[in-house]
Amino acid sequence: MKIEELKTPCYVIDEGRLTDNLKILNGVRERTGCSILLAQKAFSCFAEYPLIAKYIDGTTASGLYEARLGKEEMGLSNHVFAPAYKEADFEELTNICDHIVFNSFSQLKKYKDCLKGVNAGIRVNPQCSTQDGHAIYDPCAPGSRLGVTREQFEEEYLPYISGIHFHTLCEQNADALKITLDAVEEQFGEYFSRLSWINMGGGHHITRADYDLELLESCIKRIQDRYGLRVYLEPGEAVALNAGYLVTEVLDVVDNGIKTLILDASAACHMPDVLEMPYRPPLKDSADPGEKSFTYRLSSCTCLAGDVIGDYSFDHEIKPGDKLYFMDMAIYSMVKNNTFNGMPLPSIAIMDQDGECRIIKEFGYEDFKNRLS
Ligand SMILES: *Cc1c(COP(=O)(O)O)cnc(C)c1O
Repeated sequence: MKIEELKTPCYVIDEGRLTDNLKILNGVRERTGCSILLAQKAFSCFAEYPLIAKYIDGTTASGLYEARLGKEEMGLSNHVFAPAYKEADFEELTNICDHIVFNSFSQLKKYKDCLKGVNAGIRVNPQCSTQDGHAIYDPCAPGSRLGVTREQFEEEYLPYISGIHFHTLCEQNADALKITLDAVEEQFGEYFSRLSWINMGGGHHITRADYDLELLESCIKRIQDRYGLRVYLEPGEAVALNAGYLVTEVLDVVDNGIKTLILDASAACHMPDVLEMPYRPPLKDSADPGEKSFTYRLSSCTCLAGDVIGDYSFDHEIKPGDKLYFMDMAIYSMVKNNTFNGMPLPSIAIMDQDGECRIIKEFGYEDFKNRLS
């Protein structure tokens, strides 16, 4: 079926776009020899894992459940990082992961004798902020719980780890990576000769049109050539950037001074980053408010007055029954969904390279009820 025929709300994964992204990532691997992992927290659409597995090296997880998903559905290299691990989970992690990254030396000390040959690493905090604006996305902010600073680094435990990990970027270009890498090298470089890998985390917007691939690759090569380290990157966003849509239907138009479209999709339930980041998601055939003839505020069926996606303008009047297509909805969307207000979860469809859509998952009342008791 065509995208226009899907019942709403529905996420649609654009396999053509996804494949374009994967080819870019694979190019980086081929030209540098680095390894690239999917950060599942951004995109856990496991129906696409067989496709993704053709182009990259595996998965990374934020804890046991994602690690299990990566193992079960992709079955390649499987890494995990969490600020702390529960004792009850640890043994299973050692069975399904090949790299376990610790956030502190106390965690490393606690589990160092239970690793059963799994590669251990430590996350470092180079205290080098390169982001302006989004403080909640800055693991280098003062007092951050994420990663060990140079001052806290306990060199005597180096023999228990084989690598270091840093993750400090968010939607950034390679210039920010270069600055960060210089800081990591300056602070922790003296240990590199005793390690075998470095994981440069995520936040690399590698598949964005203006991304500086050459600078990324020179950063990777520099570390490989100078220290002989294997380099891992674990992008989330970049894997499925601009590779999905959320299709929604206009249910009503309310005009209390502002013309507001009531949609069957919600920012609070289906695109929480819109409220958290915050940002205004791109919408097909629309422009900024006032730019085209008909301007509307886009909102939803929840009770939250602030459940507003943004203001958009259109060439023609919008009526109940019209469908709207939010863009860039593959990442940080499905993985963050909730059923606040008893809102239905959007179904999930895949659009193949020819534009043909097939539904791979539908949700119903039971999915709402089963999470409650
Ligand atoms: C979130 C996260 C990633 C992926 O980040 P993106 O911004 O989606 O590329 C990778 N590694 C770690 C440790 C993360 O927390």
